[in-house]
Amino acid sequence: MSEQKLLIATTNPGKITEFRKLLAGLPIRVIGPEDLTQAVPDCIEKGGSFCENARIKARHWFNHSGLASLADDSGLAVEALDGAPGIYSARFAGDGATDKDNLERLLERIHGVDHSERGASFICCLALCRTNGSLVMFQGRCDGVILDHPRGRGGFGYDPVFYYPPLGKTFAQLDPEGKNRVSHRGRALQSLREWLSRNEL
Ligand code: IMP
Repeated sequence: MSEQKLLIATTNPGKITEFRKLLAGLPIRVIGPEDLTQAVPDCIEKGGSFCENARIKARHWFNHSGLASLADDSGLAVEALDGAPGIYSARFAGDGATDKDNLERLLERIHGVDHSERGASFICCLALCRTNGSLVMFQGRCDGVILDHPRGRGGFGYDPVFYYPPLGKTFAQLDPEGKNRVSHRGRALQSLREWLSRNEL
């Protein structure tokens, strides 16, 4: 199989590095927007679900580059909050909110909710727009419980309050490899990797 190019549809350099690492060993050259010669306009994400947003982004970058493009969208859905923050995870406390603001907002909203009703899931949706314009979707999910207080120093976002019962730790108490083995993103990427080992872009 000759080397194929895959554009990661994000302007977040951290994500491009992460994808590069996770796709290492496949005959695929992972590139980012900075490797393109043409400028790509901002993508307006107005979907109503993680998967719809991922699809919008993957198709936008494919339309402007002509390259196979991969986009992701992820977040936290809390049962007692009817699935919030959901697609608004990055700005739960308002536009421009930091991870800390969002986490504090979540703790306020969940205060007083019984522990038996604190179930939550991290969800990650990946959309791959292939060179022929067709879309393939991959999803990963991880179920846990929201704690009253943060625990651990690793990770980002809601990790310090997301307790994962099978390991008896929050995501912020896991090292990056440990988190990747069980996380929503790790699981979605594992499905993508398997698909890429059997299919051309
Ligand atoms: P993005 O779509 O992957 O950029 O993530 C959107 C938001 O979801 C982030 O800003 C975080 O608030 C939250 N989120 C997504 N994945 C994780 C995770 O693995 N840990 C903690 N928070 C996450």
